[in-house]
Amino acid sequence: MTDVLDHWIAGRPDAGSSDRTGPVYDPALGVVAKEVRYGSADDVARAVAAAREAFADWGRSSTARRQQVLFGFRELLNARKDELAAILTAEHGKVLSDAAGEIARGLEVVEFACGMPHLAKGAFSPNVSTDVDVYSVKEPLGVVGVISPFNFPAMVPMWFFPIAIAAGNAVVLKPSEKDPSAANWMAALLQEAGLPDGVFNVVHGDKVAVDALLTHPDVAAVSFVGSTPIAKHVYETATAHGKRVQALGGAKNHMLVLPDADLDLVADSAVNAGFGSAGERCMAISVVLAVDPVGDELVEKIRDRMGKLVTGDGRKGCDMGPLITREHRDKVAGYIDLATDDGATVVVDGREAQFDGAAEGFWLGPTLVDRVPTGSKVYTDEIFGPVLSVVRVSSYAEGVEIINAGPYGNGTAIFTNDGGAARRFQREVEVGMVGINVPIPVPVAYHSFGGYKASIFGDAKAYGPQGVDFFTREKAVTSRWLDPSHGGLNLGFPRTPEAGDTSVGGGGGRPTGRPPPVGPRR
Ligand code: NAD
Repeated sequence: MTDVLDHWIAGRPDAGSSDRTGPVYDPALGVVAKEVRYGSADDVARAVAAAREAFADWGRSSTARRQQVLFGFRELLNARKDELAAILTAEHGKVLSDAAGEIARGLEVVEFACGMPHLAKGAFSPNVSTDVDVYSVKEPLGVVGVISPFNFPAMVPMWFFPIAIAAGNAVVLKPSEKDPSAANWMAALLQEAGLPDGVFNVVHGDKVAVDALLTHPDVAAVSFVGSTPIAKHVYETATAHGKRVQALGGAKNHMLVLPDADLDLVADSAVNAGFGSAGERCMAISVVLAVDPVGDELVEKIRDRMGKLVTGDGRKGCDMGPLITREHRDKVAGYIDLATDDGATVVVDGREAQFDGAAEGFWLGPTLVDRVPTGSKVYTDEIFGPVLSVVRVSSYAEGVEIINAGPYGNGTAIFTNDGGAARRFQREVEVGMVGINVPIPVPVAYHSFGGYKASIFGDAKAYGPQGVDFFTREKAVTSRWLDPSHGGLNLGFPRTPEAGDTSVGGGGGRPTGRPPPVGPRR
C-alpha cells in the first residue's frame, strides 16, 4: 500500500478532514513514491487556530528562548543534513550535491535568524522633550502563512520561517505538493529543537489550501514563492483580505557576455547556471546574450562542456537529475521543436542524451539552442528546464535593451573585464539581483533576495533586513516620567519643541496653578 503523507498540526501528524490526495513521484525512477494529503479549508482553519493558540505564549517568550530554539535547530539540521538531502533528491530529483547546497543556503538564513535579538532591537531616543523619551520596538505579527514552490522544498521555506519564528510569530506552511516530505521532516526537527507545538504547522495541498490561507481572518501575513501568475493571484487575494504580502514570482535570467570577457569562465558559468538543478531554479541562466563577435567561439566552448555532463539518478553522483514530473518534462522538450520551427539552431538536443537511470525516469538532457529570435516562445517563456538559449546581439546597448524590455527582473549577470562597463550595467539594468562575473547572484542571508517587475509583488524582499521588517511591525512609544513637571493645558498638535520649551506639546500651555518643577533634574 502507498504511504500517505499527513499534515503537521499542533506538533503531530494530522490526517485532516479531506480524503483528497495527490501523487508524489520519485522522478529518477518515474514511479509514485507516496501520496500526499490535500488539505481542506477546515484543515487550514485548524492549523491557523493551533498557531494562534501557540502564538499567545511564543510571541511573549523571551528573545533568548527563541534564539536557543533556533540555535538548536541549526545544530540538529547541520548534523542531519544528509537525511534531508536524501529526501530532496528522492522527491525533486536534484543531485545530492545540489541538495546539500540548497540546505547550506537555507542554513545561512537560520544562522541569520539566530541574531534576531540584535536585528529586532529597535531604537531609543532619550529626552526628545524634557523628561520625554521615544523608543520603537519590533513586535511579531501573529500567525503568518508561507507558500512554497517545488524547486527548493527546504531552502525556500527556510527563507521565511526561521525569521518569522525568531521574531515571535507562529507559522502555517503550505509546501509544494510535488515534493512535500521535507516540510514534515523540518517540522519534527523544530520540535526536537524545543519549539513549542503549534508554532510551526504544515498543511499540504493545492489551490484549496492556499486560498483558505489567503482569506483566513487570523492570518496576518503571507510569504509566497512560485510562478508569476500564482504570485499575482496570491498578492491580489491576500491584500484584498487585509494581509501583508510578499509574493516572489517567475524569472527569465540573462547573461550578457561582452567581447573582452574570459570565455572559458563564461562557458563554465553558463553551463553551471543553465543546467544546475536541471534548469529548475528561479536564478538559472536561461539566455546568453553574446555580443559580437564572441558568439561562435562561445557556443563551441559551451557545447564542449555539455558533452561532459552526465544526466541521471541524483543518488549516483551524476551532474544533472531528471525533471520534476513527466508532464513538465514533455512540456520542456516541446520547446526544442518550437525552436526549430522559429528558425533557431538546435546545437545540442537533450532528447538524444544517454541517461544513467531507470528507463521510466523523467529525463531530458542539457539542450543548447543558438540564434533564438526574441519573438520566439523559447525566448519569451520561462521554460524552467535544461534549455539554454543563445541570442546574438551587436552591442552592449542592444543587450541591455533586450534585458530591460522583458517582463521579469529577477536575476542577471554580466561577464566582462571592463570595470566601467560592469558598473554601468549595474546601474542601467532593471533587475533586482545582479552578478558581475558571477552567474547566480543569490544574495547572502544578511542581504535580501528579490527581483523587480513581474518577479515580485509586494514591497518586501525575502530574508535579510527586509525579511525582519516583513515579519515584525514597529510600535513607537512616547513616554514621560514626571520630574515632576507639567506643561499645562495645550490643545495644539504635539510637535518637536523649540529651544527652551519644556512641554511635550511644545506650545507652552496655560498655567494650571501647579508649582514649578522641583528637585534636581536627572
Ligand atoms: P507554482 O506557482 O506552480 O506553485 C507555487 C505554490 O503555489 C505551490 O505551493 C502550489 O501548490 C501553489 N499553487 C499552484 N497553483 C495554484 C493556484 N492555482 N492557486 C493557488 N495556489 C497554487 O510554482 P512551482 O511550479 O512550484 O515553482 C516554480 C516557479 O516558482 C517558477 O516560476 C520559478 O521561477 C518560481 N520561483 C521563484 C523564486 C523567486 O524567488 N522569485 C524562487 C523559486 C521559484
